[in-house]
Amino acid sequence: MAHPMVVTKAPKPVSALSKTEAGLESGLADYSTQELYRELIGRFHEDPDRDGLLATPSRVEKSMAFLTKGYQQNPTEILRGALFDVDYDEMVIVKDVEMFSLCEHHMLPFWGRVHVAYIPDGKVIGLSKIPRLIDVFARRLQVQERVTRQIADSIQEAIAPRGVGVVIEARHMCMMMRGVEKQQSTTVTSAMVGCFHDQPTRGEFLSLVRQPSSGI
Ligand code: ZN
Repeated sequence: MAHPMVVTKAPKPVSALSKTEAGLESGLADYSTQELYRELIGRFHEDPDRDGLLATPSRVEKSMAFLTKGYQQNPTEILRGALFDVDYDEMVIVKDVEMFSLCEHHMLPFWGRVHVAYIPDGKVIGLSKIPRLIDVFARRLQVQERVTRQIADSIQEAIAPRGVGVVIEARHMCMMMRGVEKQQSTTVTSAMVGCFHDQPTRGEFLSLVRQPSSGI
């Protein structure tokens, strides 16, 4: 049985919608995000007017806006002012950066650690910018393979180093809570650019990643 729309506003006729709006879902562009979450709660067979759920649409809206704010951030802007000329040509490695993202297939979290390395060719990135760069791509609807690649490509584009390596080790709620229900499996992805395709650079990077953190 179809559940009644909890919201009361009449939807615009499809003809009045722009192509993008109509592409979302005919008529739905007229409802606020909170109204749509309220409707969803009803469709989960819950009572959106129950005390504990009254403010949920507003909380979910804020939370989702935060978790997807990467769409409105530009990696080039984040790195601007944080690129430095340095005479250093050994591997720079930033290990164990926490990452939280949402899988685009189920909109459930996947999270883990990112390891980034590059060999400069005249320019380096301010170290604090690497975690911010990771967040720009992680705070979107993603697949792990794509975040990994985007981080590597944006570093390559920003400072044209001799090479970049990115490894992400993550766990996916969509595998743990549903589907195959595997609790302990970790998904590892890597993206290598330039000299990171070659041994021994790649080998050196991967062995540094495998070393336990020193605890400093
Ligand atoms: Zn998923």
